[in-house]
Formats: sequence, C-alpha cells, structure tokens
Amino acid sequence: MADVVVVVGGGAAGLVAAWRAASLGRRVLLLEANGRLGVKLRISGGGKCNITHDGPPKALLAAFARDQARFLRPSVHAFGNAAVMDLLRREGVETYVRENGRIFPLDRPGSAAAVVEAFETLARRAGVTVRTSTRVTGLLGRAPRLEGLWLGEERIEAETFILATGGASYPETGTRGEVLGWLKGLGAPVKPWFPALAPIPLQRPRPAWEGVAVRGGELRLTAGSQGARLGAFAGDVLFTKAGISGPAALELSQAVERARREGAAWLSYAVLREPPEAVDAALLTETRANPRLQAATWLGRHLPERVVEPLLAEEDVSPSLALKELPRAARKALVGLATALPLGEPQPVPLARGEVAAGGVDLAAVDPRTMALRGWENLRICGELLDVDGPVGGYNLQAAFSTGYAAGSF
Ligand SMILES: Cc1cc2nc3c(=O)[nH]c(=O)nc-3n(C[C@H](O)[C@H](O)[C@H](O)COP(=O)(O)OP(=O)(O)OC[C@H]3O[C@@H](n4cnc5c(N)ncnc54)[C@H](O)[C@@H]3O)c2cc1C
Repeated sequence: MADVVVVVGGGAAGLVAAWRAASLGRRVLLLEANGRLGVKLRISGGGKCNITHDGPPKALLAAFARDQARFLRPSVHAFGNAAVMDLLRREGVETYVRENGRIFPLDRPGSAAAVVEAFETLARRAGVTVRTSTRVTGLLGRAPRLEGLWLGEERIEAETFILATGGASYPETGTRGEVLGWLKGLGAPVKPWFPALAPIPLQRPRPAWEGVAVRGGELRLTAGSQGARLGAFAGDVLFTKAGISGPAALELSQAVERARREGAAWLSYAVLREPPEAVDAALLTETRANPRLQAATWLGRHLPERVVEPLLAEEDVSPSLALKELPRAARKALVGLATALPLGEPQPVPLARGEVAAGGVDLAAVDPRTMALRGWENLRICGELLDVDGPVGGYNLQAAFSTGYAAGSF
C-alpha cells in the first residue's frame, strides 16, 4: 500500500477529501466506523441538511471566531458554497436559499440522504475504495511520519493519512472523539473537546413549560443575577423538560459552559431589550392611557399566555390587578419579567448533545492551505477534528467541505 492515501472518517470532510484526492489520481482507501457513510450528515438540519450558507466568502468567514476565520480563508476561497452547490447540482441535487441565508437541498423526503449519496457517488466514481464498519483503534508512528493505523489486530500502512474523524458530540453517530487523544499522545497540540451549540440544562427547570417559546428578545448571560454581562444572543428560546433550547440557547451554550466552569453563570431572557427605566416609563404611559388594563394582559402582550399567570404568582402579583392599582413593587416586578425573565443558574452543558464540538487540533499546528499537521510529512487533518466551530446555519458543514477539499488536494 506504498502509494496509497488512507482517509479515516466517511463524513462530510472525509468524503470530500477522498473524492478530491482520488480525482487527482491518488489511490484512496476510505475507512468508516459506521455501517454506512455520512451518518451525521443524514441527521443534519433535522434530516434536511443545511449544507452551507449564502453569501461571498468574506461573509461566510465572518460568522466564525477571528482565528478560525483566518485559518479557513484559503480553503473557503478554494472550495466555497458555490463550488459545493455546483458539485451537488451536477449529481442531480438542486439546492435553494432560505430567507435567512441557509442553503438546503430542494425539499423532498430524504434530502439529507441525497447529499450523502451524491458525495459517495462522486468518491466511488473517482475510484475511492470504501471500507465501512471499520473503526480505527490506534495510530502508529512518531513525528515526522505516521507509519500506519491499527484496526484492532490488523495494521494498515500508507503513504499519506488524512484524519477526518469529526468531533465528539452525538457519539451514537460514530464520533467519539478518541482520535484527538491519540494525536495528543503523538505530541500534536490539541484543545480539549468542549460543548457547543447544545441545549442548556437549568438548575431549576420549568418542565411544565416544555414546548413554550419566548420570542423576539435576547438571552443574556451574566456572572450571577446582579453580575457583569458576559454574553448575549438575540433570538428565540424554547423551554424543554430539563432547561432551554432553541437558537439563542444553542448559540450561547459555549459561553455559558465557560462561565459556569469559571464559577458564575446566570441566565435571563429580555423579551423587551430596552433598559428597564424605558419600559417602566412606557408602562406608566400605558397606565395613564388604559388604567383598567389588567397586569396579566399587559404581560401577555410580551410573553406567552401559558407562562404569564405562573410568573405573576411567583412575583405575588394578582393577574387581574388593573394597571392603575399596581403598587410600585408590583410594577417593578412586571418590568423585571419583561426585561429580564429569570432563568437562573445553568447545569453542565452536555458535550454529547451539541450540534458541534468546540476544541480539536490546534489551528496553529496546521497549514491552512494543505491541512498538513506541522512537523509531520504525511499527516493531514480536516473537518470538525480541527478546532473549528461555527454557528448554526450551514457554516459547520461548509467548513468540513472546504477543509476536506484542501486536505485531498495534492
Ligand atoms: C443533530 C445535528 C445536526 C446538524 N445540522 C447541521 C446543519 O444542518 N448544517 C451544518 O452546517 N452543520 C450541522 N451539524 C454539524 C455537522 O454535521 C458537522 O459539523 C459535520 O458533520 C462535521 O463533518 P466531519 O466530516 O468533520 O465529521 P462527521 O460528519 O461527524 O464524520 C466523521 C466520521 O468519522 C467516523 N469516525 C470517527 N472515529 C472513527 C474511527 N476511529 N475510525 C473510523 N471512523 C471514525 C465517524 O463514524 C463519522 O462518520 C449538525 C450536527 C448535528 C449533531
């Protein structure tokens, strides 16, 4: 197997890396732990697969943290969203752009599976040999050369290795994150896996509100209930049995877990984002204009009906109280609920439930044009195994496709 390229991981990055290397004339063997390719791709975007995001490379890159954007620049320019869509179109998978810029395959049953099939067809047609149900169990070698891989008792040697084993969330999809530990053992600089884009469990969840969404405001993270602002994300929050989910919760989850580990994290939701003084003034104006309006009716304009009465009960405010009868403390409580609905302390954010895992191979140790691990002659890293984690919206798959393409280009 002297001139062979082995790609480990048949997900988004590995499929593209294998196809690209084979189409440039390499003999490619693709190893995948699962019984079939692209298992995580198949469940992505709720089974619809938000493959990428609309816009020029500069806008795509701006969605990532600055160091990640700098790292991704060459690969996104070489193989960006237009290239992904073009490739899929040639394989019969048409795409469309949603109003929010997210790009999906045309709506039809199994649209995520169609994306996997397209990449698998491309790879096989280019001559890639695929071995599924094959989990790599260890790496063999030391810098500057990886000599081989262990598949249990079996040893596989190759000229070049591309590692595309993904992150560490949703381990049931094959991504257990163990390869990062092996790379660390070989001296590669790595950052430990860290939860991201995950639901947030709360110390005091509200299971009775499961399924209720609060919309149009901002989820805020502070160091304690009266502490400094540590982060915020504008968007909806959905109550779950154990805590909160929804766009704002997912996007803020990484910062929440960091703050929690540093000792002080507290969450609230500002359905009205104006300062409390401004909302108080607006409530006084409303009281003069509409003195008989009930407290519950006013709050119900801003929060879902299902949560209004229980919240007022917690604050000891009678829901039928007319605005003109509100004591000062009750008015303050109403303003408080609208500007900072208390969600309280988070519990540990689960790595396993994240749409992506933060952490991975340190970007400073990887050449952003080739994905070659510095100090190694024959080892390339791509996809979520790298320390890249973008927001929801197609960015993570695009990063996997772009870095996979770069890793297979030699
Ligand atoms: C529920 C969910 C929904 C998502 N939706 C979206 C979305 O709509 N849009 C978006 O951009 N991103 C989405 N993501 C994120 C996106 O799916 C990932 O970032 C992307 O799949 C990463 O690609 P990858 O190739 O690096 O890893 P993966 O696609 O996870 O592929 C890695 C592969 O490596 C295999 N593997 C791991 N270890 C070994 C081993 N030791 N030996 C052999 N094989 C191994 C795994 O079985 C796996 O198939 C979603 C993620 C989840 C969990």
